[in-house]
Amino acid sequence: MRVIVLGAGVVGVTTAFYLSRLGCDVMVVDQASEVGDGASFANAGQLSYTFTDALAKPEFLARIPGLILGRDQGVDVKLSPGLIAWGSRFVAQCTHGQAKANTIAMLKTAMRSAELLTELRERLPFDFWHREAGKLVILSTEGEVEAARANLDVKREHGCDAELLTRDQALAVEPALERMRGDIAGAVYSKSDEVADSQLFTAGLRDMLEADGSVEFRLSSRAQKLVKADGRLRGVVVDGDTLEADAFVVCMGAWSHELLRTVGINPNIFPVRGYSLTLPPGDAAPMVSVTALRHRMVYSRLNGLVRIAGFADFRGFDTSADKKRSELLLNLARGYAPDAAEYDADDPKPWGGFRPMTPSGQPHVGPTKIPGLFLNTGHGMLGWTLACATSHDAAQAVTSVH
Ligand SMILES: Cc1cc2nc3c(=O)[nH]c(=O)nc-3n(C[C@H](O)[C@H](O)[C@H](O)COP(=O)(O)OP(=O)(O)OC[C@H]3O[C@@H](n4cnc5c(N)ncnc54)[C@H](O)[C@@H]3O)c2cc1C
Repeated sequence: MRVIVLGAGVVGVTTAFYLSRLGCDVMVVDQASEVGDGASFANAGQLSYTFTDALAKPEFLARIPGLILGRDQGVDVKLSPGLIAWGSRFVAQCTHGQAKANTIAMLKTAMRSAELLTELRERLPFDFWHREAGKLVILSTEGEVEAARANLDVKREHGCDAELLTRDQALAVEPALERMRGDIAGAVYSKSDEVADSQLFTAGLRDMLEADGSVEFRLSSRAQKLVKADGRLRGVVVDGDTLEADAFVVCMGAWSHELLRTVGINPNIFPVRGYSLTLPPGDAAPMVSVTALRHRMVYSRLNGLVRIAGFADFRGFDTSADKKRSELLLNLARGYAPDAAEYDADDPKPWGGFRPMTPSGQPHVGPTKIPGLFLNTGHGMLGWTLACATSHDAAQAVTSVH
């Protein structure tokens, strides 16, 4: 069975891996000259198996006017018809019931992903800076501690092993946070969360699949249009050539909408820009992954380096504010954790990526209404965490239909 995977981010290449292991003849197409060049390039690297909380929740509604008025430094909003349409679906997800259902669904997928990556790691002949780092989510107020307690009670019923720590317990887990003591009211600690570099994983997987001849990569090639005939998907136009296959899997992250609309499908994916910096460690660089919830920043220790990531900008594909946003991220990160990194390093490796966000936060995985067309896209803030499980499921869906 011949399958074309569209998009060579961590999701597309992992999908190609599972398809090839199920005996498919696979081609991966991407417009970039290297794999993992989109959102998968320099994300925070957190395999956040237990922190799968939906962004869309009742508390978020009260924050929306302030976000639109620019009162949160971590969120930059540029209103557009596309954002208003997406935003109204997002608002519909902001109920207690939906927030809980979305969080639990993501938790279950994330826990399966952890098992699959553990299995896979033993078979991969390359290093991708994987480490069992553990993760602390810092809570700054008593209100946040109480909300986290209620949330953990629900997640624990579904197998989540995270625990609520006092300030002193959190500092015992990560002494490097001592200077932030005043900002810590408590923390959620998950021993089982990990870190690894998703671009190295994607590139290593590509080399392995190319070397064993199981997957062909057609890079620097743009997918322009999907082609339907006789009621099913028959082809994709790539740089003017029509490529045919038995099945197609769209894994184009934030760009999926552009291609899917050529066959009348709207996946409701909005690009949400985030930024990262990669710096040498400072005198008190945490070893544990740290999420400073209130400041919308995370700190990860990857192969000795400190990667700081954060912000959620709703400006469509506009990148004109990148320089300003990266500078702000650097300043806020320095203000919050002055000794975590060498903030004055010559090259802080500023980077921006588009998270492919659905209103519910859950990705689209599996068949569409068009026979032969499958999706594995819309992973939002957790694409690296969820990649193994959703790619495994997408590959199963493709092969079980035929
Ligand atoms: C700042 C930041 C921090 C993050 N931190 C984490 C984290 O710690 N943990 C976590 O789990 N997730 C994290 N994420 C989210 C994660 O990075 C994404 O969910 C994930 O990378 C999405 O992967 P993808 O393969 O779906 O998309 P992408 O990696 O964006 O891949 C899409 C691909 O489609 C290609 N493409 C686009 N248009 C076309 C076309 N017309 N033809 C051919 N190819 C095309 C692109 O070139 C690209 O390679 C973070 C994201 C950001 C921005």
